[in-house]
Amino acid sequence: MNAAFSTFIAIFAISGVLSVLLAIYSSLQKTRFSGMRLFIMMSIATAIYTFGSSMELASSTLDEIKFWISFEYLGLPFISPLNLMVVFHYVGRERMMTTKAAAAMLILPAITTGLMLTNDVHGLVYQSMSLRADAPWPLADFAMGFWYVVNGSYTLACGVVGMWLLARHMRQTLNVHRKQTAVMFLGLFLPIGASLIYIMNLTPYHIDPVPATMSLTNLLYCWAILSSGMLTSTPVVRENILESMSDGVIVLDPAGRIADYNKAASLLFPFLTRQKIGSLATEVFPKHQLRDEDDDLQFLQDEERVIEWLEENETRFYRTRSSPIYFRRGGIYAGRTLVVLDMTENVRLHRKLEHMATHDGMTQIYNRTHFVERSEILLEEASQSKQHLTIALFDIDRFKNINDTYGHDIGDIVIRHVVHCCQIHLGDRDVFGRYGGEEFALCMPGRSLDESFQLLEAIRHELYSTPVLTPAGEIGVTASFGLTEATSNLPLKTLTKMADEALYLAKQSGRNNVQISYDTELEAPV
Ligand code: GH3
Ligand code: MG
Ligand code: MG
Repeated sequence: MNAAFSTFIAIFAISGVLSVLLAIYSSLQKTRFSGMRLFIMMSIATAIYTFGSSMELASSTLDEIKFWISFEYLGLPFISPLNLMVVFHYVGRERMMTTKAAAAMLILPAITTGLMLTNDVHGLVYQSMSLRADAPWPLADFAMGFWYVVNGSYTLACGVVGMWLLARHMRQTLNVHRKQTAVMFLGLFLPIGASLIYIMNLTPYHIDPVPATMSLTNLLYCWAILSSGMLTSTPVVRENILESMSDGVIVLDPAGRIADYNKAASLLFPFLTRQKIGSLATEVFPKHQLRDEDDDLQFLQDEERVIEWLEENETRFYRTRSSPIYFRRGGIYAGRTLVVLDMTENVRLHRKLEHMATHDGMTQIYNRTHFVERSEILLEEASQSKQHLTIALFDIDRFKNINDTYGHDIGDIVIRHVVHCCQIHLGDRDVFGRYGGEEFALCMPGRSLDESFQLLEAIRHELYSTPVLTPAGEIGVTASFGLTEATSNLPLKTLTKMADEALYLAKQSGRNNVQISYDTELEAPV
């Protein structure tokens, strides 16, 4: 027997064996791919067809050939429609593949098989069959019957619809599945391409090359299953819904590997690229772009978190929500989805409002309400820890004159200057607030009365010695200060009243000085 001929037989036989192995392998997989049963059936049909084809080639008489061709038809007509059904499941349209629809799609192939088995009676599939005179070994030549064309057209139509579905899926779907879809597309195209070559009579002695391509198709499926888990990932969430979402979605498999992500997620986390699919999420998240609190990546597991994403020029705030996914049937754990919401604008707005509610717009120090709130807390802390705390009020001297002489705008400049001079001397713990128009308050935890007095003196001197530079020229400014210390658990209200009394005294004593008001229950120093 000719070597090329033996090669054909060998390829066909290998193809058959591969299909059997693939069917066995697939049935052993614990996959939830809804089209798996159909895929196994398709592999079995392919195995029958390719096995019959190799036996056909190895036959030595016309009767043997006829027998094996009939055998091939137990599988052949079913391959293409089953393949189409697998594609329907793959592209997430399994709902359309109801039992009725599937049965309807298999009616025509069943008729084909029936007609082939009875072909001798009517000749509807093969009008006639004879041995080729020109071939150096027994090869069949035949005249197509009517049903041969019907079956061929149906097979081709299923293939074309399948390819169309896959092409559409490739355009609409997430990038990350494109490779798998392309492999399926190629797998579907190969036998169709081979059929065209066959119809155009381009093979030696008109040998049908389709069974040979089946081995390649099967290899592609095999490769796809083993390398990218093509048939093992159920589209848990409809991909097109995912893509249209403005929230980022990352799908993790049960082992914590990145299984999928949508476009919004890759915009929020630009490190998400196709190459990262299959990598452990804990390994691919760039930790240097996360705060210390977040870099344990616990947010991948936590129900809800707000994380900060550090970009070169700004920090963005993301709310993350991680939820487990379970397969509908059986409740098997399928991984997690991480939904990521960009709330940077909300956080910024919230912070701005918070700042506006607590700060004075003109001077950017605390407003009176917030000063009181903060001071109440510090006072409580100081009384518990028995630490010093002093309260001071001060008021710009003869400020009305400044307003009257230079106008309100210049007055504002003077107020800001006073605040600035104060801030030069204040420490981190001191709380500084604008108490009234040109009246300010200080709450100084951890400073004794004496230290506070020295501090106020320093501020007073700073003001006195540095005139304000304004468009209207240099303006001298002074202030009067009233100081008191928190003792015997006096409330803040009383303390400020005491500081105010001291301030009044300072005004009475000729302004530009610091006065102290002592707790009357304690003995004042002589
Ligand atoms: P004294 O030394 O007794 O404190 O004299 P004074 O002129 O400063 O008197 P008083 O504290 O009663 O006057 C405060 C003035 O400050 C009245 C008000 O018009 C003015 N003022 C209050 N808030 C502002 C402000 O935000 N900008 C400007 N330019 N003036 C203000
Ligand atoms: Mg004043
Ligand atoms: Mg005043």
